[in-house]
Amino acid sequence: MARRLITGLDPARVRANADRVQGEIDAAARAAGRDPAGVTLLAAVKYVPLEELGALAEAGLTVVGENRAQDLEAKATAPGGDAFVWHFIGQLQSRKVAQVLRHAALVHSVASDSALEQLGRHGGPETRVLVQVNVAGEAEKAGVAPDALADFIARCPVEVAGLSTMPPAIDDPEANRPYFAALRGLAGEHGLAQLSMGTSQDFAVAVQEGATLVRVGAALYEPA
Ligand SMILES: *Cc1c(COP(=O)(O)O)cnc(C)c1O
Repeated sequence: MARRLITGLDPARVRANADRVQGEIDAAARAAGRDPAGVTLLAAVKYVPLEELGALAEAGLTVVGENRAQDLEAKATAPGGDAFVWHFIGQLQSRKVAQVLRHAALVHSVASDSALEQLGRHGGPETRVLVQVNVAGEAEKAGVAPDALADFIARCPVEVAGLSTMPPAIDDPEANRPYFAALRGLAGEHGLAQLSMGTSQDFAVAVQEGATLVRVGAALYEPA
């Protein structure tokens, strides 16, 4: 994935984008008979350099997600980093589990046996994670297969709060609705409350299908 960093973020612009995204979240929740307060907007910040994070804080964004362990540590511990609650949303390498747990209130992407082993070593009673599920069965994508999920959850040494998924990149958000519905079904089967699903391209559909956390990047930073 190209990592083109964003520069010159205007807090007023980010706020306008965030207000629009939040409005769409609220509308999607109400349309589905859900309380909008049950959905958290997480700002994905992998393209936002440290120096630009202040614009997000000024825009009122409070929950942010980083993809790389080193970037998570650098940003969370920098001056102003404590303005945010940090989540880890990237692919979780087992040798980075300890570093990630030091800074992330929630890890969205537990998907390997080696990560489970490291969670057993470095996790504690307060550690909560989401298991990433490969609902679309994409060969190249990380995530636990739906039919392996029960066993994976049973083997997880820390609290599993819910599930997450990263469905295919698509042109029509409706194309991902079946995957979001499938993830909700799996969470229901396993009695899990948190559902991390939906990005800029499809967060409204994800909310209609039960998302409790939407991970939005590009839509928050786009210029007018
Ligand atoms: C970047 C990222 C997002 C946000 O994607 P956008 O298209 O920028 O909204 C969500 N989830 C994960 C895991 C990401 O890496």
